[in-house]
Amino acid sequence: MKQLLIYALVAFLVGFPFFECFPQTRSSKDTASAMLKEGMIKLQAYEMLSELTAIGSRLSGSENYEKAVKWAKAKMISLGFENVRLNPAQIPHWVRGKTEFAEAASRSGKKLPLTICALGGSIPTAANGITADVVEIHSFDELKKPGIAKGKIVFFNRPMDPARLNTFDAYGDASEQRTKGPSQAAAAGAVAAIVRSMTLTHDDVPHTGSLMYDEKLPKIPAAAVSTNDADALSAFLKDGPPVRITLKLDCQQLPDVASASVIGEIRGSQFPDEIILVGGHLDSWDLGTGAHDDGAGCAHTLEALSIIKRLGLQPKRTIRAVLFANEENGLKGARAYTDSEAKIGKHIACIETDAGGFTPRGFTVTDPVALAKIQKWSALFALAGAGEVTSGNPGADLLYLAKLGIPAIGFRPDSQRYFDYHHSTHDTLDKVHPRELELGAVAIAIMAYQLSENGL
Ligand SMILES: [Zn+2]
Repeated sequence: MKQLLIYALVAFLVGFPFFECFPQTRSSKDTASAMLKEGMIKLQAYEMLSELTAIGSRLSGSENYEKAVKWAKAKMISLGFENVRLNPAQIPHWVRGKTEFAEAASRSGKKLPLTICALGGSIPTAANGITADVVEIHSFDELKKPGIAKGKIVFFNRPMDPARLNTFDAYGDASEQRTKGPSQAAAAGAVAAIVRSMTLTHDDVPHTGSLMYDEKLPKIPAAAVSTNDADALSAFLKDGPPVRITLKLDCQQLPDVASASVIGEIRGSQFPDEIILVGGHLDSWDLGTGAHDDGAGCAHTLEALSIIKRLGLQPKRTIRAVLFANEENGLKGARAYTDSEAKIGKHIACIETDAGGFTPRGFTVTDPVALAKIQKWSALFALAGAGEVTSGNPGADLLYLAKLGIPAIGFRPDSQRYFDYHHSTHDTLDKVHPRELELGAVAIAIMAYQLSENGL
């Protein structure tokens, strides 16, 4: 009683806003703390990731991808999501094939076997392969030197910059060699391209990823080489050029396949037509099992909504999970979703998780007005280690929605190990830590719920 009187007196002295703000702030913090507790005691994100990765790799067009669609739909239903449905998309179907061979040989007869894998979307070589002189290149400018690449295999060997704190920045700088390099080489008259793997580690596995052929130029076969072999090849070239490489690939592009992204939601209690989207991509590359890229994002998404449901919370706005098809080699799922669903209801904000399942650091936000508002909630995200809210782009699946002016938010975990595993046979469940993964789901649950209660 005495305490109540003191509270009443303080409220009277500082005025009405005290009553207005304090309970709200406390309630958001209590809710976020409850989410943390619920998530960390049960660690269900890791269980879901175990199930998803047990299917195997999930490249667009593959049987495994369709199995993942079925799994995701059934999982959303079993978690009690509403309006669970498929969003149809026509997706590409590229297959790696069985032959991936490369060997360098000097004129004096010395040989160097190279560990390679075809880049996603590459055309095959002829059955007996391509043999040609090799030229090492570090920038597209070097290709402008007349005759430098004519009739040769171009070896792109500019490493990711180890001095960049955020490894995604280093990836952004170097990955044009993989995406645009093959066509740049073709423009200079090259017959094939070999690209240093996009990773900061020195290892013996090649890291694949998409290439983007320029339709106006001849298509040439292209492969990634492991970083250890890229260094060895560079030393081999310095040792005594000229060096020739023989490259054999039997990958192929098959007709597009009718497939889908998977959607489920918690309907908003007050503004059901206003949508907070949370998503990752269900497809992966065909090497490894896509545990971090982007099985982790799928587990984050499912678990974030599941935590909200398990706590019995009824968000004011609809919180929608979207597991996108075909992020890796076409973005056809994101395109189809934007073309169909963005016209229905109103997307207030979109959250993407496609940066791995590591310890949360924070979020990036595209829109400056949204950023200022979301930054005020940093203390809540900090409960799950995700208090750094900065300006920046999300992942690729939200690009089309962001272009419509919808604020897009990217979940940002620690990036130091991501490219050790990315797009390689090393991206498997054992590289994911259950607590780190769950913290990401909690951070995203807090974000989604804050947006659902407050709007933007
Ligand atoms: Zn990804």
